[in-house]
Amino acid sequence: SVPLSYFGGIGAASKKGILVKGSNYLEGLTQVKTVVFDKTGTLSEGVFDVVRIDRSTGSTLSDDELMTLSAAAESYSNHPIAHSIVKAAEKSGGVVSNVSEHTEYPGLGIKAVFEGKTIAIGNLKLMAQENVSVSDLPEAGSDVETHIYVAVDGIFEGRISISDKIKPDSKDALARLKKSGVEKTVMVTGDTDKVGRAFAADLGLDDVYTEQLPHQKVEALEKIEAETKSVNPKSKVAFVGDGINDAPVLTRADIGIAVGGVGSDAAVEAADVVLMTGDPIQLADAFDIAKKTKSIVY
Ligand code: ADP
Ligand code: MG
Repeated sequence: SVPLSYFGGIGAASKKGILVKGSNYLEGLTQVKTVVFDKTGTLSEGVFDVVRIDRSTGSTLSDDELMTLSAAAESYSNHPIAHSIVKAAEKSGGVVSNVSEHTEYPGLGIKAVFEGKTIAIGNLKLMAQENVSVSDLPEAGSDVETHIYVAVDGIFEGRISISDKIKPDSKDALARLKKSGVEKTVMVTGDTDKVGRAFAADLGLDDVYTEQLPHQKVEALEKIEAETKSVNPKSKVAFVGDGINDAPVLTRADIGIAVGGVGSDAAVEAADVVLMTGDPIQLADAFDIAKKTKSIVY
């Protein structure tokens, strides 16, 4: 039977906008020694500004045309990068959404057909998959810029550099986690080594895995879990993520925590705990409530 105060704990959590899907997860939180985070939309805002557009030497498109084609390809995607590119294109005036085919490659990007042209938009892994040779471009500016490459009918057209920001409460939340007994914080991201490491260093995380495709995120979690449990088999690992690509890891983790608000329905469904507002401080609150509840039970 479940001690009554666990229901109290679930109630206290829900008053703070934290949905706990069972008393076992509240108890489980008190045993978490390692917290693994997704980057985009979890510790970062997931709202990207377009900082620069670099077109290839041979491109006949204007910057605005490149943005319009990009936004067309991204218009059916729920990825935070897609939302940001559509928003930027709206500002420059041209958004069209009548693409005839649309394929999303998780951790890579999008391919779509618009007015008979095949547009591929995503990272260098997508360009390699599509046999697009990316010509020399000026070296990128800052470490925290994510580069999105655009090809039309297999020809490289240009690079859109976008930049995300750390959420204002991420650092406070991480500090509070450490105070409530979490020993290790790790980021697992599909973004590049450069960007992932810059974010991890800024946040003061203990470890970072970069360039991880969705299935590799599960493998990374399993490795982290094995390390954590080798110290103490009772220790648990929590994963915190927001994206549709995060559902497999959320399911696999001892405790899967979805960041709601901006997060995808798939993530919310796969999770054991849901942070409804998307503010990372809710994560620290969840750990505190779990601890308090346990101290009442025993
Ligand atoms: P994260 O781990 O940061 O949440 P994802 O696994 O969702 O990232 O995506 C990893 C990378 O794949 C992105 O940094 C981007 O380069 C590329 N990507 C994924 N989806 C898209 C998209 N819709 N448009 C452009 N690029 C994308
Ligand atoms: Mg994500």
